[in-house]
Amino acid sequence: MNFMCGVNVACFEKVSAYMLGMNFVRYYPLAGLAFLILWVLGKKTFQSNRILESFPKAERIWYEIRYSFGTLVIFAGLGTLSILFANLGLTKIYIGAEKYGIWYLPVSFILLTIWHETWFYWAHRAMHTPALFKLVHVTHHRSINPSPFAAYAFHPLEAVLEGIYLLLFAMVLPVERSVVIFHTFYAMILNIWWHSGYEFFPKGFTRGVITKWINTSTHHNLHHSRTHGNYSLYFNFWDRICGTNRPEYDDYFDEVAGRAERSAGGLAGVSPPMATNSQGSASE
Ligand SMILES: [Zn+2]
Ligand SMILES: [Zn+2]
Repeated sequence: MNFMCGVNVACFEKVSAYMLGMNFVRYYPLAGLAFLILWVLGKKTFQSNRILESFPKAERIWYEIRYSFGTLVIFAGLGTLSILFANLGLTKIYIGAEKYGIWYLPVSFILLTIWHETWFYWAHRAMHTPALFKLVHVTHHRSINPSPFAAYAFHPLEAVLEGIYLLLFAMVLPVERSVVIFHTFYAMILNIWWHSGYEFFPKGFTRGVITKWINTSTHHNLHHSRTHGNYSLYFNFWDRICGTNRPEYDDYFDEVAGRAERSAGGLAGVSPPMATNSQGSASE
């Protein structure tokens, strides 16, 4: 599809329809697939990989599905705005790998990922200041025990803050259209994974020389169940540098991952912990 169609109503309609379609067609089926495999069909099979023993009420999952709808519309709007900016020459989004060479595709992907990690961490910390938390971020944190559909369950202002990083990047550095599409896809899959409620990484993962820099599903699940700490996204970089990992993270991870290993070895029997919020009360 040719996005460089100028600044006119026909172009706006074409681009916004594409953005809406792409966002909805990717998100609901993928989050739904994760839900179907882990929460429905594989509920028994993956029981020992479950981070929290309890499951949220159906109304909480419907809440996540509803709020994700608004986020998808806002992400599509931001995508359309980015193309409008590209048509006005205000971004460096380009089409055709040959313009900067094939080598620049993975380089721009890595730069975009580093930028997203940094933007997300600091925006997330800002949203944990009392005023913004109460006004905006609490929408996402109502899921103390998240399902895959919590991945995009944001207040509209948070959805703008979460999605704007891409436009800001593209206004400064060149990025090929396919890299943008691939990056948003990758970010979405990881986000669904972090909200899946299941852990598949092995015990000791958070203590490995290299792997300790990579985040886990347990890392973000702990953020939801305890409200504060564990703010980072893909990598455990900013949390380590700034000392914002929850102090129990490594031990808690080993407890969760160790349970799956014991179960695989036929020694199941340790129950997962109940979900608790920062006040320590049981979740729904
Ligand atoms: Zn948060
Ligand atoms: Zn979350």
